[in-house]
Amino acid sequence: MQETDAIANARREMEVCNACRYCEGFCAVFPAVELRREFSAGDLIYLANLCHGCRGCYYACQYAPPHEWGINVPRALAEVRAESYAEYAWPKPLASMFDRNGTVVSLVAALGIAVVLFLSILANQRANFFGAHGTEPNSFYDIVPLWAMQIVGIATFGFALVALGMGARNFWRDAGPGEKIGPVAIAIAVWDVLTLKNLGGGGNGCNDNSEAFSMRRRYLHHAMFYGFLLCFAATTTGFIYHTFLGWPAPYGVLSAPVLLGTIGGLSMLVGTVGLFAMKLVDDPEPSVRRLLGGDVAMLAMLAMIALTGLVLLAVRATGAMGLAMAVHLGFILAFFLVLPYSKMVHGVYRSAALLRRAVERNMKPLGGE
Ligand code: SF4
Ligand code: SF4
Repeated sequence: MQETDAIANARREMEVCNACRYCEGFCAVFPAVELRREFSAGDLIYLANLCHGCRGCYYACQYAPPHEWGINVPRALAEVRAESYAEYAWPKPLASMFDRNGTVVSLVAALGIAVVLFLSILANQRANFFGAHGTEPNSFYDIVPLWAMQIVGIATFGFALVALGMGARNFWRDAGPGEKIGPVAIAIAVWDVLTLKNLGGGGNGCNDNSEAFSMRRRYLHHAMFYGFLLCFAATTTGFIYHTFLGWPAPYGVLSAPVLLGTIGGLSMLVGTVGLFAMKLVDDPEPSVRRLLGGDVAMLAMLAMIALTGLVLLAVRATGAMGLAMAVHLGFILAFFLVLPYSKMVHGVYRSAALLRRAVERNMKPLGGE
């Protein structure tokens, strides 16, 4: 990665932190800082993606503004993090989607809904699209054929996975460890990812808008993350039912796909709405305001996927099913299209950074200057 103003500023701040070391118990970033005397661009990208933005070090820092050194680690690392998303995006020409990301995500969402809505209205007679289909097997596919859902779903999700994989490879080339990765390091990293350990700050949670600690952000993030995984499990279970057991959708209220999807959808809604509400009252100082649009747009898209999925469940036996399904599928299509060029990439790079940290965990800090 090239030297940029953000990299230079993060290096200056990390050098101050390395001499100070007051925050060494706060998170994984500071012990990783203490292993180094110099910070390459790759090191700073690694540290930036290791930071979970809990803000604990900002409120604890005696050199934070208005001190003349202006140390603001969460903001400095957030700037580098944002640059790394664009730097490692694949294919490269699409990296510009990270500019004005809120607008891009919103436009893709609108486009996804419009395309699915237009095509499903075009492909159906009015009486079929707005007719009540009951809950007989295959009633969903009277509106959008199964083959169309499968082709578009596999193509867009498959492309997103390839793009994310290439991004991870690019990241690893610059910011990965030189050493071999063993199973213990992988197990530790997986645990840190699944528990969002670093959103616990020094153990008491994040500092959202003041020196007061709170576990709110960690719990809401858990609700969103595990809700998303449950919804994914619901879709996978439905696929297995249909493909291998010959049981077509829609499924009963107490079936595994519906239960998983309902709990997952509600959990996603709680998480996304809660995180959005927190952004309204966050202290802007330790954050980068120009990144807010992309964060909010992705939260809104995830919330709408959950909400439209729950609405579809509620109206599936009525004449509103066609419309509800087209809007829900439109949001899902938009999500897959924008996935590798949105805030969602933080999950991939942060996991990779946690893996590198797990590899380094037994290394001893270097002495201060
Ligand atoms: S953030 Fe401030 S208090 Fe914490 S280690 Fe860095 S310079 Fe020291
Ligand atoms: S904001 Fe939190 S996670 Fe990031 S460096 Fe500071 S203490 Fe660590």
